[in-house]
Amino acid sequence: MANSLTPQDENRVVEATPTGLFIGGEWRSATGDRTLTVEDPSTGKPLSNVADATPEDGMAALDAAVAAQADFAAMPPRERGEILRRAYEIMTARADDLALLMTLEMGKPLAEAKGEIAYAAEFFRWFGEEAVRIDGGYAVAPNGASRFLVHKQPVGVCLFVTPWNFPAAMGSRKIGPAVAAGCAMVIKPADLTPLSMQMIGAILTEAGLPPGVLNIVTTSDAGGVMEPLIRDGRARKLSFTGSTPVGRLLLEQCADKVLRTSMELGGNAPFLVFADADLDKAVEGAMQAKMRNMGEACTAANRFLVHRSVAEPFAQKLAERMGALTVGRGTEEGVQVGPLVDGKGRDKVDGLVRDAVDRGASVVVGAEAVDGPGYFYRPTVLQDVPLDARLGTEEIFGPVAPISVFDDDDAALAAANDTEFGLVSYLYTENLDRALRVAERLEAGMVGLNTGLVSNPAAPFGGIKQSGLGREGGRIGIEEFLETKYIAIGFSG
Ligand code: NAP
Repeated sequence: MANSLTPQDENRVVEATPTGLFIGGEWRSATGDRTLTVEDPSTGKPLSNVADATPEDGMAALDAAVAAQADFAAMPPRERGEILRRAYEIMTARADDLALLMTLEMGKPLAEAKGEIAYAAEFFRWFGEEAVRIDGGYAVAPNGASRFLVHKQPVGVCLFVTPWNFPAAMGSRKIGPAVAAGCAMVIKPADLTPLSMQMIGAILTEAGLPPGVLNIVTTSDAGGVMEPLIRDGRARKLSFTGSTPVGRLLLEQCADKVLRTSMELGGNAPFLVFADADLDKAVEGAMQAKMRNMGEACTAANRFLVHRSVAEPFAQKLAERMGALTVGRGTEEGVQVGPLVDGKGRDKVDGLVRDAVDRGASVVVGAEAVDGPGYFYRPTVLQDVPLDARLGTEEIFGPVAPISVFDDDDAALAAANDTEFGLVSYLYTENLDRALRVAERLEAGMVGLNTGLVSNPAAPFGGIKQSGLGREGGRIGIEEFLETKYIAIGFSG
């Protein structure tokens, strides 16, 4: 297979990436010059060493954000919006290099990494436009004796914690609305994939973001660094994207000083295919919902629930598509499926597949790890998966499509909703009444109706139940970073 990029290209983008902590507008080393190693998951080899912050470094980042908050809140909204617009333009112009860096640290194929850069940059464009649309209100009190002025103000200093699976977009989805609203912030990216956020920090600085507004803390001690910042009381909000267990822990920590929270947590998305679905469209949507990010997405279809009458052709068509995918290093031309992020992730996927097979599921295609180096797993389709298999209750986070059958709509809905998660559900049907009836009864913050892709910066992204609190993106996204103040005005006529 032809290598479209040279090792020199790879070295160039890695070497151009800052490796320090970004505090108060300056890149600096961690206390004691501690570093952590970032690995390329397609080779298992070290890629870069970045600063490994201590709790003291984390506190310095919070100090810098607190010092920047008042001036930034006073910056005219148009100026804040224009910073975001410039950042969008720089990211778009440098999409190739940013995508290569992301592929190197996270593994996804270059085309998908480019897609994520476009998606991530779009949050800057969208919220740059929203910065000038923060509104308020004026009203007459019901008894006519006073007037109400309603005014929106920035929440204040924010703390952000983001996962490794979308190293750019999960951060820009928080930074965009925070900048638009006038909030300073400290962000802690995942230690597996900190490099994309380092580059975004450099780009926002180039775009004119004042020192101290964005502070980036990379660390191998997430809990040790973040807990004191959460409990300190000067930050007013925590926005977290990651797993439900860590989200629960952080909610407890936030209770202490009653921080506002946004929680984008885990998912267990059902993908329902009804007897009247257009099967080709359903397979196309299934590929998108399952294979985006090698299945390492909170929105990934985790359980395929298919009407008995179409289960066999659906499985065959899906297996044909899955089996034809090219697995390999994401930098290579033609590769469609990269490695999983680490050995732990790959072993978990394999364990879930073994469990389902032990319980009676049959393998249509795949179901094995690929020999290293790197953490590859073959795209897999399993049929006749019992609903109580671990695959049905745990996030797979890998390229595995487990298919179970249902006989009627009520059974499909009961199975789909039988989970503590409620992020997204997908359904395929050509019948409008069924589509609306099922979409309304699905317990999820988002529903993909005859589509396998719901993410869009202009739409409200988020979950219900134990998939989270709050929404990111859309018109509602900026509200998460605004407080409402009401001023009562005495009025004597
Ligand atoms: P994770 O283990 O929960 O980690 C997420 C982030 O939290 C990382 O930055 C991690 O740092 C940090 N963290 C871990 N323990 C912490 C602690 N005690 N205190 C403070 N921070 C802590 O999740 P992940 O494995 O990175 O990501 C996968 C999960 O994210 C999946 O459950 C997926 O569904 C979810 N996710 C949800 C959405 C959504 O929008 N709903 C989007 C993407 C992903 P280190 O990694 O450096 O340890």
